[in-house]
Amino acid sequence: MTQTVANPTMTIDGAAVETGDSFGVINPATAEVFAQAPSANAGQVEAAMLSAERAFASWAGSEQVRRETMLGAADAIDGAAETIVPTLTAEQGKPLGDAAGELHVAAAWLRYYATLEVPKEVVQDDDQGYAEVQRRPLGVVAAITPWNFPLALAMWKIAPALRAGNTLVVKPSPYTPLATLALGEAMRGVLPDGVLNVVSGPDPLGAQLVAHPKTRKISFTGSTSTGKKVAAAAANDLKRLTLELGGNDPAIVLPGTSLDQIVDSLFWGAFRNNGQICLAVKRVYVHESQREDLVDALAAIASAVRVDDGAAPGAVLGPINNDPQLRRVSELVADAVANGARVAAGGKALDRAGYFYAPTILTEVSDGVAIVDEEQFGPALPVVGYHDVDDAVARANSGHYGLTASVWSDEPELAARVANEIDAGQVSINVHGGGVRPDLPFGGHKWSGIGVENGPWGLYGFTETRVIVGPPRRG
Ligand code: NAD
Repeated sequence: MTQTVANPTMTIDGAAVETGDSFGVINPATAEVFAQAPSANAGQVEAAMLSAERAFASWAGSEQVRRETMLGAADAIDGAAETIVPTLTAEQGKPLGDAAGELHVAAAWLRYYATLEVPKEVVQDDDQGYAEVQRRPLGVVAAITPWNFPLALAMWKIAPALRAGNTLVVKPSPYTPLATLALGEAMRGVLPDGVLNVVSGPDPLGAQLVAHPKTRKISFTGSTSTGKKVAAAAANDLKRLTLELGGNDPAIVLPGTSLDQIVDSLFWGAFRNNGQICLAVKRVYVHESQREDLVDALAAIASAVRVDDGAAPGAVLGPINNDPQLRRVSELVADAVANGARVAAGGKALDRAGYFYAPTILTEVSDGVAIVDEEQFGPALPVVGYHDVDDAVARANSGHYGLTASVWSDEPELAARVANEIDAGQVSINVHGGGVRPDLPFGGHKWSGIGVENGPWGLYGFTETRVIVGPPRRG
């Protein structure tokens, strides 16, 4: 698997669309432009919107056709793995195995929603009357995604939106447009023309899609600051909105936990995808009596991880995706050190081309320092000591975010009690992110988002309800 996408094209009205205008895509392992992506012009945005609108009535018409077509689309995606997987690695940085795993997730989400049984919701059906709640598709959905999981996060939107009967215009991040364009190419000819359009371009393309009068629903994944702009722009037209935003996930290790049982899982909860996961562990709270032991164990793993070009055999972590993010992580670590933190592992960029940063464990740092209070979104983890569990819970719950969290303990009842006190959309016990599954709702509290994705709950986010009431339907 070495061939990246050669001539990426947008998908508009079922056809391949090139543009005169393009922008460079950087391979973060080399910091060099390796491909050009099409930059949608105003006419092409209009054409994508119109085609999605035209396709809507027929696509919304038959649930059975939608389900069968989505299964065909999942097969088409699997069949395109040979080009999509290396393309994702080249533009995002993640190792090839992780890229393949992400593509697998995308196909699995399509299959989940294609086969999900959605029961008819009849509230009353007796000799007094009939009442039914229907879930109606909304129309054209604008799906806007970030650069950390371009394929999986696009499919978290595409699959439920399609199943509900909507049509889409999808816009990937300008850092990672190519794999999503290739996803559109793979499903071209399988999905009816206009049902799924994929456009790319630098900002302000996302803002244009949000503002477009034909957009009825915006499904956005990205930073909290951009999410607020999207919400403000949507308000004018009362567009429906799902926002999956940033997080600063705490992991609380309860006193007396067998560290050797948890350290591997805790480490990867923080460092998978180089920490560039909305729901990565972003701060660890551990009882002061075990802090040094945990730091040593985490640092040992961090120091042994092979960081390399994601296309290199044996690479376990790749580079950070982009230069601004590398600088952000570097600055947060430098700021922590200036505030007294001790670097137990890593602490610096690797001395090579590309956006590589050593997996970093920090300690002797606490709340009030930026790397604990803010979202680092990269391979640097602060380990904070506490003396009192209630205080640790209060600190975990402080701040604007509330995406996910985890509690680690040998005592199931105690862990369950503490989990119930955490203000977050998901709390996992003895694992982090254990609830990221197609059949469970995923979404953040507070500034981490509005609404949820996945499961029937995510499906309903792409619908509005219509109630039908009337006289008895029983003979
Ligand atoms: P970002 O907000 O910079 O960009 C996200 C997307 O929005 C990109 O496609 C971008 O081009 C587009 N965009 C930029 N300005 C826009 C505007 N005014 N209107 C509409 N779209 C606009 O985020 P990012 O740096 O790509 O991603 C990292 C962030 O995403 C992190 O904060 C991370 O926590 C968050 N994230 C959240 C989830 C979740 O499910 N909650 C998942 C992954 C990432």
